[in-house]
Amino acid sequence: MPYTMRGGHVPIRIWTDPAEVEPGALDQLRNVANLPWVHGVAVMPDVHYGKGATVGSVIAMRDAVAPAAVGVDIGCGMTAVKSSLTVEDLPDDLSRLRAKIEKAVPVGRGAHRTAVDPSAVPGLKERGWYEFWQAYDELAPVARSRRGRATSQLGTLGSGNHFLEVCADDEGAVWAVLHSGSRNIGKELAEHHIEAAMRLPHNQDLPDRDLAVFLSGTRKMEEYRRDLFWAQDYARRNRAVMMALTQNVITRYFAGKRVRWDDVISCHHNYVAEETYDGVELLVTRKGAIRAGEGDLGIIPGSMATGTYIVRGLGNEKAFNSASHGAGRRMSRNRAKKSFTVDDLIEQTRGVECRKDSGVIDEIPGAYKDIESVIEAQTDLVEVVAHLRQLVCVKG
Ligand code: 5GP
Ligand code: MN
Ligand code: MN
Repeated sequence: MPYTMRGGHVPIRIWTDPAEVEPGALDQLRNVANLPWVHGVAVMPDVHYGKGATVGSVIAMRDAVAPAAVGVDIGCGMTAVKSSLTVEDLPDDLSRLRAKIEKAVPVGRGAHRTAVDPSAVPGLKERGWYEFWQAYDELAPVARSRRGRATSQLGTLGSGNHFLEVCADDEGAVWAVLHSGSRNIGKELAEHHIEAAMRLPHNQDLPDRDLAVFLSGTRKMEEYRRDLFWAQDYARRNRAVMMALTQNVITRYFAGKRVRWDDVISCHHNYVAEETYDGVELLVTRKGAIRAGEGDLGIIPGSMATGTYIVRGLGNEKAFNSASHGAGRRMSRNRAKKSFTVDDLIEQTRGVECRKDSGVIDEIPGAYKDIESVIEAQTDLVEVVAHLRQLVCVKG
């Protein structure tokens, strides 16, 4: 059940005790709730301060969108799929499987690939690639010189918080799970539009420059929507390609077993959708939140070693049909680097085949909130379908 916070011209519904939320994040939420275009604000239990807008927030606006409130990784999200393998099929030493995944899917900063030919990726269901790349030529001029990179980065994980995992659910079934977004092209488009919005006259008196909006019916909004929806599509396709490559690695690795796969679940957690509530058409921005309409499957990851939940939405309209996108950060990357050592990382990732070096200390489980409490705080938003624990975690 949500708390209700005042301080805006619309109430802010928040699925955690506001006393537990950083003051900086509460200020961000109040600023948002005071914008004239805002229809409602829902805040998820993984809420924390974020650049532009609070992570874990759902902002529903009438005839407006704030591009900085989407985040720079447009379409960032998760994909998961269950296999017919069980933990008994897996070898004790998972390092070879991890190496094979890392070879098939480029990971880390600057990891490019030769452009993927989607028709050469067995099992990839995504269609309409020709139209997708045709639409590229209509994007904002900033995209023009970046087409080569956009092509070569499709099917790559990226770095930092993005990951690719092999997990097991409580019944022992093996799953593949991944987190990635729209790579560099999404960031270029996002930054271009954030800048463009800030220059518009109607955005000059805002409490926070990052809340600059585009207004429906204007050319700027049309240009933004074109690029936003394309980047969201790129992110979805990027995850689909990587997931198909990962499934193929696993299928080949267990060649003697005839591996079968369920349908792939995919959800964005930084994006905009057009949705109608009580007959009002709204532009709903989820930044660090997933859609949880009635029956929607979603993915809520915890951290490198605390597992992931597969959930089904309950369709709570007070939350604009949303749920949290993860556990959320307990502390900033910098504070995590100062608070933990490599020994802590080794301790906190025991039993998981993953990086245990200083380069991922800011991703240590202790830097994130407790995923169990975050799930318990949203039993009116989602129900749990499966609980996964990681066996392999590949980080960029
Ligand atoms: P974000 O998109 O905000 O960077 O991260 C989404 C969420 O993923 C975080 O809030 C955190 O709870 C979770 N997370 C971060 N790293 C990992 C990881 O390596 N594995 C899993 N399963 N979850 C993670
Ligand atoms: Mn993300
Ligand atoms: Mn991302």
